Amino acid sequence: MPAATGKLVILSGPSGVGKSTIVRKLLGRTAERLRLSVSATTRPPRPGEADGVDYHFLSHEAFASRRQRGEFLECVEVFGRGHWYGTLLAEVTPSLEAGRWVLLEIDVDGAERALAAFPEAVSIFLTAAADPAEALQVLRERLEARGTEDPEAIARRLEVAQRELQRSSRYRYTVVNGGPQEGGLDFAVDEIHQLLVAEGL
Ligand code: 5GP
Repeated sequence: MPAATGKLVILSGPSGVGKSTIVRKLLGRTAERLRLSVSATTRPPRPGEADGVDYHFLSHEAFASRRQRGEFLECVEVFGRGHWYGTLLAEVTPSLEAGRWVLLEIDVDGAERALAAFPEAVSIFLTAAADPAEALQVLRERLEARGTEDPEAIARRLEVAQRELQRSSRYRYTVVNGGPQEGGLDFAVDEIHQLLVAEGL
């Protein structure tokens, strides 16, 4: 019997929807079989972030030359921050060939490029409410409550989020990371875990 190959899982959704918290919890449940691809970025590390663990932190020059050499599965400049983010093929292909599942936690533009390259990927769109207008309102409330950005930055993020929320139909699954009335974070993690199990994980 040929060795089973792994599957690529693409998790995306607007900024602020809770992708990284969900991923952390999900990895705690799926153990060895699913591994998170470590992205490359040109943004500087935040306190506590380690190179090769949270990201591969690259200079603009190093990123550009790896891009020219065709080393990325996808890469994008994320919402005009002047910083590049990308998935290295080396993070994905060897693991898939070894039969492991690989999870990409990436922005919506990057997810579409990754899906074009891997149409058979298990794609999951994470949103804040089933209705896009309601989801936008929830994201607004979360960003305002967090208080880390000025009103102009919040408005810019929401403008991008509004466009991104229209693109959920391109994904195989949509999962709501809603407020406590929808069961909250753990409910969304359960749902993603179950759908991955149904996909063969
Ligand atoms: P942060 O700077 O907060 O870590 O991430 C900013 C955004 O970049 C998040 O929406 C995250 O999903 C996205 N991102 C992280 N890695 C990648 C990647 O490899 N490719 C793409 N397209 N987006 C990424």
